[in-house]
Amino acid sequence: AKKLRIDKILSNIGYGSRAEIKKYCKQGMISVNGKNINNPGIQVDPENDKILFNGEEVNYREFVYIMLNKPDGYISATFDKHDPIVLDLIDSSYYVFEPFPVGRLDKDTEGLLVLTNDGQLAHRVLSPKKHVPKTYYAKIEGIVTKEDVVAFSKGVTLDDGYETMPSQLKILKSDEISEIELTIHEGKFHQVKRMFESVGKKVVYLKRLSMGKLELDKNLELGEYRELTEDEIKLLE
Ligand code: URA
Repeated sequence: AKKLRIDKILSNIGYGSRAEIKKYCKQGMISVNGKNINNPGIQVDPENDKILFNGEEVNYREFVYIMLNKPDGYISATFDKHDPIVLDLIDSSYYVFEPFPVGRLDKDTEGLLVLTNDGQLAHRVLSPKKHVPKTYYAKIEGIVTKEDVVAFSKGVTLDDGYETMPSQLKILKSDEISEIELTIHEGKFHQVKRMFESVGKKVVYLKRLSMGKLELDKNLELGEYRELTEDEIKLLE
């Protein structure tokens, strides 16, 4: 397997700068396969060699994958001049990996957002050719009808003339404030809100429940997150 300098491995995953790692080596804080290392330039195999830092095993990885239950009020970006961003919700020890959101939810949309530094995975999930389905729960001002279900299943025309692909609308409650689930297979700007506008209705609450086969963990409160399991990462591949 690939060998890398121990100081590079440790600084890449947030244990300190190269200079700091050198100091830790001299202080005897780092061992590889049971042997203390005092040369920060030594090459090791991070996948197979056992690296201890201060007696604790180092969990080497190149990529991180985080599932966040995004709350209202946060921007799906890595920088914003005015507003809080989703990265503000994640422990700063993750920042060394430079995670970014896989796609965007509107500032007022809640629910499933994946953050990763795996550009290839993000590209696959977001590729317009892949039509990865996304399911949303929404509250709608106005009575959602069977005609809307039919219209959405054929595709509707958005305000800019764009014809949406067929989508699956399920009415959970048809009332002055209706509740629905909608699965779409593309990701145009404000798509769900604009689809309801096209039938004269207004989305007053929006939450993403799933992306592809990956579902939001119901145990995550708004603003909470956890890392994806190996199996969940595979669901996105
Ligand atoms: N559709 C929207 O209108 N907003 C979102 O945040 C996601 C999908």
